[in-house]
Amino acid sequence: MSKDKPEYLINRKDNQYEVVIGLEVHAQVTSESKLFSTSSTKFGAEPNTQVSLVDAALPGMLPVINEFCVKQAIKTGIGLKAKINKRSVFDRKNYFYADLPQGYQISQFKDPIVGEGKVILDMPDGQKEVGIERLHLEQDAGKSIHDLDPKNTFVDLNRSGVALMEIVSKPDLRSPDEVNAFVKKLRSIMRYLGTCDGNMQEGSLRADVNVSVRRKGTKEFGTRCEIKNVNSIKFMQMAIEYEANRQVDLIEDGQSIDQETRLFDTKKNETRSMRSKEDAHDYRYFPDPDLLPLEVSDDFIEKLKLEIPELPDEKKKRFIEKFKLSPYEATILVSDNETSNYFENVIKKSDVKLATNWIIGELFAALNEKNLEITESPISAGNLSKLINLIKDGTISGKIAKTVFEHMMEGDKDPKKIVEEKGLKQESDPKALEALIDKVIDDNREKATEYKSGKVKLFGFFVGQVMKVSGGKANPQLVNEILKKKL
Ligand code: ADP
Ligand code: MG
Repeated sequence: MSKDKPEYLINRKDNQYEVVIGLEVHAQVTSESKLFSTSSTKFGAEPNTQVSLVDAALPGMLPVINEFCVKQAIKTGIGLKAKINKRSVFDRKNYFYADLPQGYQISQFKDPIVGEGKVILDMPDGQKEVGIERLHLEQDAGKSIHDLDPKNTFVDLNRSGVALMEIVSKPDLRSPDEVNAFVKKLRSIMRYLGTCDGNMQEGSLRADVNVSVRRKGTKEFGTRCEIKNVNSIKFMQMAIEYEANRQVDLIEDGQSIDQETRLFDTKKNETRSMRSKEDAHDYRYFPDPDLLPLEVSDDFIEKLKLEIPELPDEKKKRFIEKFKLSPYEATILVSDNETSNYFENVIKKSDVKLATNWIIGELFAALNEKNLEITESPISAGNLSKLINLIKDGTISGKIAKTVFEHMMEGDKDPKKIVEEKGLKQESDPKALEALIDKVIDDNREKATEYKSGKVKLFGFFVGQVMKVSGGKANPQLVNEILKKKL
């Protein structure tokens, strides 16, 4: 991009263009064994230790469909409010690659197992619906390793044959932020369902990102480029920004966009051409003669529906109605099952409003700082509710509670014990407070006179002094009341 042009044209104020994005998400099915063999799918094993004769494509080996993976795909379809196709077909997608010993990938082309569905995004200015085009089952390929040896490429077939769900969105996304929300929501739904762990570092969730631009107000879509295999949300967003701007530059230059497949270079932060877009017929798709069409009954689907847990959208609705949370608070608390479970455990025995604030505020900040997940929280839900009750019944002030909270973060200790051991109990005895207040007024005679002659702003000064002398333990409400009387 030339230097005299603004870096991000699509972010430009007089922005004439709109970016259009559609994702093809590859989600690894949570399953102990592969799609057509009994080999383990465990991550991180020694190379080529989880490869059956089927996965290595030795002659004469026949694939056998793993029923569990089929159930996982249907459950995901139900979670996406999608149409489940009772009849689907496995096709061979033919291409040559060193880490694809069969010479074809078994996938679904014309008749996928799941049809149209939708995902609801919670954006700052309201909800947005993104269409799902389809979800199909397919095998993953093996892995070529180019950086272990200067002269040779190694092939690890552990991943060969692992089940993937390819989830294709409609071109409904309009910004990197929406892509962020979409991937997170999709991941959250699959985690609730237990159908994909969504672990992007381990490659369980990655996406091909289709990007085009068009002049605002135009009905027709522009020509798209497809950025292959992006494995982090951050990279997806960076790739979209770069790609949209590249396309706008070309159009402004009077050139046209070639439909092509591109790669995102994470070091240079740019996309570059891999190959011009191949057509479906180049893959010579045809139904795999080794596999019968996959047929499932209504009964089979109905039984799976009974296994579907409460999903994020429904849970959010319940949290708002039952606990009177704001949509913002509810969205955060339902983002994953572990967080919502933690929240529901805390409020079993304590005030909802306080619990919400403490979890979203203090707890998340503290966990973030220590880089911990909610499941690794040093403070158990039970102890957090005890802390909240100590605030609620006036044993400690909100300020002291923060100190107690810090001690709790160092290990899961009962807050009552911490309050006792450190002598942090709030002073709510009016007699004791009066004595303190008398002393503060006595020590600040001049200011007291000024206050009485009309300098009311000094009231805050006196409250501060009393709190200081009490080591932060004086009950602020009582201090206010007594001070008013005394002054
Ligand atoms: P292919 O296999 O050729 O990539 P798919 O139908 O599997 O085709 O995927 C097409 C993807 O591209 C979908 O996610 C779709 O939403 C998206 N898409 C289609 N047209 C456009 C466009 N003009 N701009 C951006 N994305 C698009
Ligand atoms: Mg594609």
